[in-house]
Amino acid sequence: MDIVLYPNPTLRAKNKDIEKFDDELKSIAQEMFETMYATKGVGLAAPQVGLNKKLLVFNASGDKERSEQEFVLCNPKIIQKSKKKELGDEGCLSFPEIYGSVNRHLSIKVQAQDLEGHAFDLEFEGWEARIFQHEFDHIDGILFIDRMTPTSKELIKHDLEYLRENLRPSNSCCDDNDCKNANS
Ligand code: ZN
Repeated sequence: MDIVLYPNPTLRAKNKDIEKFDDELKSIAQEMFETMYATKGVGLAAPQVGLNKKLLVFNASGDKERSEQEFVLCNPKIIQKSKKKELGDEGCLSFPEIYGSVNRHLSIKVQAQDLEGHAFDLEFEGWEARIFQHEFDHIDGILFIDRMTPTSKELIKHDLEYLRENLRPSNSCCDDNDCKNANS
């Protein structure tokens, strides 16, 4: 699986409910974990691998060996969120080397389905709550740059422009081998 990079429109497209809880879904989730670990991420949402589905995976440790911390959520919904919020630094696999400060709810209650389609409720706090909210936003077509503090957004302005310039579709780009278009 390849990570879809900003500004690829897949990241803003509408994501479909998962209706079939089959072997294909299980292997997609498995591959998403592998891609996430290989790119040193802690979470990944399906649109980031080019699949517009309501599916997200995360492991707050980012450590493949600590698989007990893995979460797979299909069709997640937020049922409650803490009033209290906290600022923290975030990155995103779809925005290489861009980091910024984002305000997130400290804890969040979630309803979702597992890979068999069984419904469950969970409450996340702190770092896990932050990761969940980041990935949940992806499912809604919302990106962390949309929620960054104005100061952070100002700081990353040029890096964002660079991504927009360099990740255009190949037909609008040159044939030069040095062209940074290879990721699009
Ligand atoms: Zn992200």
